[in-house]
Amino acid sequence: MTRHFSHVIATGVFWLGMYLALVLAPLFVLLIGPTPPGLGFLWDLSMALGFAGLGMMGVQFVLTARFRHATTPFGIDIIYYFHRYVGIVLLVVVLAHPILVIVDNPATIAFLNPFGAPWHMIAGTVSLLALIAVVVASVWRKALGLAYEPWRWTHTALSVAAVVFALVHIEGVQYYVASPWKRLLWRVFALTWIAVVCHVRLIRPYLLRRRPYRVVSIAQERGDAWTLALEPRGHEGISFQPGQFAWLTLGGSPLLMTEHPFSFSSSPTLPGGRLEFTIKELGDFTRTIGRVPLDAVGFVDGPYGTFTIERHPAPGYVFIAGGIGIAPIMSILRSLADRGDRRPLLLVYAYRRWERMTFRDAIEELRARLNLTVVFVLEEPPPEWSGERGWITREVLDRHLPEDRRLRHVFVCGPEAMTQAIERQLRGLGLPLSHVHSELFELV
Ligand SMILES: Cc1cc2nc3c(=O)[nH]c(=O)nc-3n(C[C@H](O)[C@H](O)[C@H](O)COP(=O)(O)OP(=O)(O)OC[C@H]3O[C@@H](n4cnc5c(N)ncnc54)[C@H](O)[C@@H]3O)c2cc1C
Repeated sequence: MTRHFSHVIATGVFWLGMYLALVLAPLFVLLIGPTPPGLGFLWDLSMALGFAGLGMMGVQFVLTARFRHATTPFGIDIIYYFHRYVGIVLLVVVLAHPILVIVDNPATIAFLNPFGAPWHMIAGTVSLLALIAVVVASVWRKALGLAYEPWRWTHTALSVAAVVFALVHIEGVQYYVASPWKRLLWRVFALTWIAVVCHVRLIRPYLLRRRPYRVVSIAQERGDAWTLALEPRGHEGISFQPGQFAWLTLGGSPLLMTEHPFSFSSSPTLPGGRLEFTIKELGDFTRTIGRVPLDAVGFVDGPYGTFTIERHPAPGYVFIAGGIGIAPIMSILRSLADRGDRRPLLLVYAYRRWERMTFRDAIEELRARLNLTVVFVLEEPPPEWSGERGWITREVLDRHLPEDRRLRHVFVCGPEAMTQAIERQLRGLGLPLSHVHSELFELV
């Protein structure tokens, strides 16, 4: 195990410990000092679940706050998936709170009646309803036909509402937080979460506004894609590792939450802090890229992500791309070429049609500068095509993976179904799981 890898594991364990400490902190606050007498197992369990659920809700904001040190050991996509699954678990935990109270004392069902219940119980019900709405809208966003941007605004507003109403509920009930210093600790805890939300939604966008970029070129690529180049204005820009990505805002203000994540497709060594993103037309925002005026202002929040060879030294690499998943791989290949790296590389790149294959020509040029073998896999090949056709199957991989395949690190980027299938095939071909790295272009 390399020193770098042990460091990543140690940092990962540290942040997992921090996560558990933050989630359980409300319970510890309740247990220190004089505690009110218990009211039976079910009742006490229900209260503990309520407080733990609120702890989890608060930490959900921290998870998506994109704190670079905390996300680096795991990768931000893993953190977002974790956030998603914890959301479901926390709904179960929070739902169990009123259910157990009612089971313990059926008369308390009256607290669910908004016309007769005290205000702090109504606050509890509102918090629960907001939480249910957040989870339903997130898990079934696509099935419900919710577009990403309105969903995101609603998600933030409802999540903040769920926490605020839960805090109001606790303040009103007062049972476990009656002593003044416990109330103080509880408020400090609540203020910390509010501070995280303010940091993410106000302070960070404000700081980004002070580091603007300008669009300096927009070039059309094959396959309905555009390469957008930006240069920093009045600052030195950012440094990134090839394969990473950033949240890009074009025009407007970062405060408006109109950012979209895109991988860098350029080498990090371009002069003047120039950054390039290659963006496929897919939806309402990406279809406007071709019409972005030159000199338009942009904001770049990044770099993020762990899809980078820098973390995984190896005698050679294999890259597997589907569609626009080629973008971060281009950044890696370009930077290897700039460094004069002569390690053996294999690129397996799947696309539907030859004439629409993004970066087809640039890949040919890179062949001359790298020790690179390229396998194109076409779903709809032209009649004269003699190369691989169809999808990237286990047989295709087996035919082209090099002899030393178990020593290589493999980087996969493409549609989710393709990525999962390839991960399975690589496992079946005996490649160690720790050598396979993937990037998904879907966070929600
Ligand atoms: C880590 C990462 C790297 C990416 N790199 C690239 C790249 O190099 N090139 C490229 O073409 N695409 C990339 N994408 C995908 C790109 O972010 C989406 O295609 C784009 O945001 C779609 O926006 P839209 O409004 O045009 O499409 P829509 O039709 O509105 O959205 C299509 C889907 O994209 C996702 N999406 C939309 N808006 C956002 C947003 N603001 N934040 C997060 N997800 C969103 C949602 O899942 C949505 O359902 C990347 C995505 C991720 C997560």
